[in-house]
Amino acid sequence: MKVTSSAVLLHDSAFDVTLDRAVGPAGRVIEKHVLKHPGAVVVLARNAASEVLLIRQYRLPLRKVIWELPAGKIDRKEPRLKTAKRELAEETGYQARHWRKLLEFHPAPGFCDERMTAYTAADLTAGEAKPEPYEVIRPRWFGWDEVLEMIRRGRIHDAKTIATVLFVERFGQPA
Ligand SMILES: [Mg+2]
Repeated sequence: MKVTSSAVLLHDSAFDVTLDRAVGPAGRVIEKHVLKHPGAVVVLARNAASEVLLIRQYRLPLRKVIWELPAGKIDRKEPRLKTAKRELAEETGYQARHWRKLLEFHPAPGFCDERMTAYTAADLTAGEAKPEPYEVIRPRWFGWDEVLEMIRRGRIHDAKTIATVLFVERFGQPA
């Protein structure tokens, strides 16, 4: 497929929406609205007892409050690890001395070019959270098996959280 046009229809502070058109070898055309995303990070922070830090927050598109790992968008092309450190501190108040990149994935490739990078964070120091004015975030520690059980029972249905936790459950946490 060859992309032949991409027109910006909406320019938002967080992302653009474009109308993209691509043509294939047999003249087949794909035309789609695409959400152009700056990229984001997700953080799996664990304490000395190996518990996992989840946050509870209202998600407007879902019209409900959900449990998920701390995460956030890249701010003006900042390095991804810097985003991870900033988002963990803003959303939970925690700073971590030990960081490792875990995996990368596209959460919604059907309509969005977002690339998400997951990090593990350890050796934590508690501090004061500084959420955005529109964010109401409640952090809480959970046991590893408790998080797995929440995923199994559908009490966690956030894709980045499921992918990141199950990746570590299957392949282990980087040293
Ligand atoms: Mg966030």
